[in-house]
Amino acid sequence: MANNIQLPRGTYDVLPEQSAKWQEVEQKINELCRLYQYKEIRTPIFEHTELFQRGVGDTTDIVQKEMYTFQDRGDRSLTLRPEGTASVVRAYVENKLFGLPDQPVKLSYMGPMFRYERPQAGRTRQFVQFGVEAIGSKDPAIDAEVISLAMEVYRSVGLKQLRLVINSLGDTESRISHKEALIKHFEPRIDEFCGDCQSRLTKNPLRILDCKVDRNHELMATAPSLADYLNDESRVYFDGVKSYLEALGIDYVVDPNLVRGLDYYNHTAFEIMSDAEGFGAITTLCGGGRYNGLVEDLGGPESPGIGFAMSIERLLLALEMEGVEIGQASDLEVYVVAMDESTKNKAFTVVRDLRMNGISADMDFNGRKVKAQMKSADRKKSAYVIVIGETELESGKVALKSMATGEQQELEFEELAQAILENR
Ligand code: ATP
Ligand code: MG
Repeated sequence: MANNIQLPRGTYDVLPEQSAKWQEVEQKINELCRLYQYKEIRTPIFEHTELFQRGVGDTTDIVQKEMYTFQDRGDRSLTLRPEGTASVVRAYVENKLFGLPDQPVKLSYMGPMFRYERPQAGRTRQFVQFGVEAIGSKDPAIDAEVISLAMEVYRSVGLKQLRLVINSLGDTESRISHKEALIKHFEPRIDEFCGDCQSRLTKNPLRILDCKVDRNHELMATAPSLADYLNDESRVYFDGVKSYLEALGIDYVVDPNLVRGLDYYNHTAFEIMSDAEGFGAITTLCGGGRYNGLVEDLGGPESPGIGFAMSIERLLLALEMEGVEIGQASDLEVYVVAMDESTKNKAFTVVRDLRMNGISADMDFNGRKVKAQMKSADRKKSAYVIVIGETELESGKVALKSMATGEQQELEFEELAQAILENR
C-alpha cells in the first residue's frame, strides 16, 4: 500500500456526526442575522497581500507572523484571508456601498480564515469565522446592537457561562496623548522586553499591553491606563454604549487593559469570554470593536464602522465544556426494508416517492438480510420502518411501523406519505 497522506498540521476534518452540530449553529446564526437584518456578503478566500498589510496593520502578529502569503503564476503577491473585516471594508469601498441610501450597511459573513499559528485546542490554521460589520454609523446604539447580536448567538445555542468585557480605546486625540504616556513609561526599560515589544514601542506602543510574552512584566500592571486619557467626546460615547447595553439587560465588565490585537480599532472594544471549566489558556470566544478610520485608510470616504468576529470552533469547544449537546436529533423518518431482490425495485421507488413528498427516507444498498436491515433502521434511529415483501406487493398494502411505540398502521402504498406527514 502507498504511504498514507495525512491532513496538513492545524487543519481537521468535520465528519458527519460533527457537521450536524455545525449545521445547527449555522442555522441559528442565519436566523439571528435575519432578525437583526445583517445581510450576508461573500468575499474571495484570497486577496492582494497589501489589503491585509494596510487593513489589518503592519505591526500586528497576523501580518508579521501568521499570513499564508504566496506568489501566483502571474507574480502577484496574494494572501489567504486571515480575517474578514479588511475584505468586507474593501468590498464596501469597491462596490460603493457608502452610496446606498440606508446607512449603516449591515453585513455578515461566515467562512474559513487562515493563520499560520501554533495549533492547540481552539487554535487551528484553518478556522471558520462568523462576523458582522455595521458600516456608516457612529451611534453608540449600533455598538450595543452588534454586541448584543454576538451575545445572542451564544445564548441561542445554549451557552450560559459567558463574560462580556468592554473597553474604550478612545478617539485619535485620546490615543495620541495615551501613546506618549506609554512611550514614557516603557522606554527606560524597553530592553527588558521581547523584540516584538521593542519594535512596537515606537510604531504602536498600545500593542505592548497585548503582548503574550511579557504579560507578567511589572511595568505592565503600572502602565498608564487608556481610561485616564479619554477626552470628553470619547467618554460620552463610551457612556452611551454602556447605557444601551444596560437598557438591553446585558451584563458587562469594563477592563481598561483590553486592547484588541488589530491596529485599526478605536472607541468601543469588546471580547466575550467563556467561564466554563476545562478551558485551557484560550477563553476568548469573540472579539470586536469600532474602527472609524479603516474605510478611509482603504480609499473610501469617512465611514465609521463596528463589527465582531467569532470562530465556530471555539463556540463548539465552549458547548463541549458546558456539556451542552446540539445537533443530536435523528432526521431519518422512514427506513424501507426490502424482503428480497424481487421487492427491491418497489422499495426503491417507495423511497423516491417519500423523498418527493419531503420525507427523509433510506434503504439498504448492500443486499443484506431483513434482520440486518432492521438493525440498520435501529442504528439510524429511523422514526418508521416499512417492510416490503411479496405479500405487500400483491395486496398493495403495507404496515407503517413506528419505532418509538411499535404501533403499526395498515396503509395503501399511496397513503404512506400523507399518513407520515399527518403524524409529524
Ligand atoms: P487570540 O488572542 O486567541 O489569538 P485574536 O486576537 O488573534 O485571538 P481575532 O483576530 O480577534 O483573534 O479573531 C476573532 C476570533 O476568531 C477569536 O476570538 C476566536 O474566536 C477566533 N480565532 C482567532 N484565531 C483563531 C484560530 N487560530 N483558531 C480558531 N479560532 C480563532
Ligand atoms: Mg491570534
